[in-house]
Amino acid sequence: MDLASPSTNPTYSSPVITSPTIGTTTSSSSPITNTTATTTVAATTSPSSTPSRYENQKRRDWNTFCQYLRNHRPPLSLPMCSGAHVLEFLRYLDQFGKTKVHNHTCPFFGLPNPPAPCPCPLRQAWGSLDALIGRLRAAYEEHGGRPEGNPFGARAVRIYLREVRDFQAKARGVSYEKKRKGPNQR
Ligand SMILES: [Zn+2]
Repeated sequence: MDLASPSTNPTYSSPVITSPTIGTTTSSSSPITNTTATTTVAATTSPSSTPSRYENQKRRDWNTFCQYLRNHRPPLSLPMCSGAHVLEFLRYLDQFGKTKVHNHTCPFFGLPNPPAPCPCPLRQAWGSLDALIGRLRAAYEEHGGRPEGNPFGARAVRIYLREVRDFQAKARGVSYEKKRKGPNQR
């Protein structure tokens, strides 16, 4: 597999993952790490985040998505990209996720702090995906895409994100609504 050849020169300037070769097993390096995205999400409440950090992350996300398109079979170009392709991309990213999301059948379903390990899959946390879509949506228009045709703003994507949020809230015993509205959180 020439896909696995490390032809791209990785930059080690930051702990954030540079977009890896897509389509190979990259268990140790995910394109969008939860830690990164979580930091971005958390940064909205802390003044320590700089715009350039967001811009860097946005550029990395955009590169990852473009690489995903290049490796897509059949090949996809940006103008051909629809909300359905964005959903495909989000599901593809789940294999790099680090957030345990319990199945309905798991005894720990709905427990915020399960007492033991279980075989439920790791996924991208909703907050990571939500922030990612926001960055890609902006990047799409910065790269000349028309706002009305922005696949990252597609209705299907919004619905998918809402479903992921609601399911993860139930599966992990977290209420995002309460977290957001609760005055005792800040
Ligand atoms: Zn479980």
